[in-house]
Amino acid sequence: MSEIATARPPDAPALDAAALRAQFPALSPPHERGVAFLDSAATTQKPRVVLAALERAYVETYGAIARGVYRLSAEATAAYEGARERAARFLGGAADEVVFVRGTTEAINLVAASWGRTHLAPGDEILVTGLEHHSNLVPWQLAAQATDARIVVAPIDDRGEVDLEAVERHLAGGRVRIVALAHVSNALGTIVPVEKICALARPAGAVTVVDGAQAAPRLPVDVRQLGCDFYAFSGHKAYGPNGIGVLWGHRDRLAEMPPWQGGGGMIREVNFDRSTFLDPPQRFEAGTPAGPEAVGLAAALDWIDGVGRAAIDAHERALVAHASERLAGIPGLRFIGTARQRTALVSFVLAGAHAHDIGTILDAASVAVRVGHHCAQPVMDRFGVTATVRASFGVYTTEAEIEALGRAVERARRMLTG
Ligand code: PLP
Repeated sequence: MSEIATARPPDAPALDAAALRAQFPALSPPHERGVAFLDSAATTQKPRVVLAALERAYVETYGAIARGVYRLSAEATAAYEGARERAARFLGGAADEVVFVRGTTEAINLVAASWGRTHLAPGDEILVTGLEHHSNLVPWQLAAQATDARIVVAPIDDRGEVDLEAVERHLAGGRVRIVALAHVSNALGTIVPVEKICALARPAGAVTVVDGAQAAPRLPVDVRQLGCDFYAFSGHKAYGPNGIGVLWGHRDRLAEMPPWQGGGGMIREVNFDRSTFLDPPQRFEAGTPAGPEAVGLAAALDWIDGVGRAAIDAHERALVAHASERLAGIPGLRFIGTARQRTALVSFVLAGAHAHDIGTILDAASVAVRVGHHCAQPVMDRFGVTATVRASFGVYTTEAEIEALGRAVERARRMLTG
């Protein structure tokens, strides 16, 4: 195990996980099922305020958004635009830079299809890191195929940290147009030094696209400070509803992008020969918007900031430190991902046992973890494994659940390796 640079700093704000947990109906009586839910990197449970905001949006102010003259429609539209302002504030951007999408996957596909396909030329390079989720790799492969650009990779080391010298080397080649990188790895927990990489990319003329799916729910994020061009995250991983996410794009970048989907709500004028389009962000929101989901997301962002992102960050790093210590003594256990700066999760393999079998035994012990390649097959290849066990944490995760994880893994080891 590496030294734990994840330990809670002494001056970090405190967080009462038990009290916060009580705000989650799925984790409280009568709904809670006695399960340690350690899969928050995949998706989070929802606090009552988010469910209430969703219900209010469907019951009290539900109507067509930006399409009606009636009062309910105007109210629904105002709530949707209010959610856009809330999302902008969450990221330190402006409301007209926020595009609502279905999630991180759609956000990155949007940038790849619109900015990518219109700005990439044959021989151009798209730089990704070795720890990307498939969502931040496959859309770039599609854009590269369409434009004869190519993907280049800044690899990760044995800890799961990005090789910054490789980033510099690739940028020095002068062909990199896009740098696509995760802020926090979903497979390893590595916190990537995004601000540093953006500062390297800018003078090299490369546009930066940050996959914030794992970072936005747990780290303070300010897009201006990071210096990125695009930042994406998903509502459902941030205590918010499914089917809604955010793409923040720098105003200048969005302005130079054509629509990527056509339909209602994004046009100025349409005739049979051609159409003209609205300005961003509406230009990128074809079709009926997910209004109540956006309102639910705004409630989730309010809730996160009410708890405090510095407190959430400290809480989750402390959980990672505790879990790392608890599991470290188990014979045959190997951590996959020991970056000095990491958060959110622990990922591991056990000699002589398949991750899926471990996951099944953990499930029988009422410990819910994710097993598999975590949509990051290149990461698995890098570490020479096909799958890992990943326990991932949220605001509501308790020390007792980490203990339950430790006991269940010990039991799985005894059962699977004798
Ligand atoms: N990027 C990372 C780092 C993720 O962890 C995930 C989801 O697991 C995604 C992208 C894709 O997010 P979504 O499925 O919500 O679009």
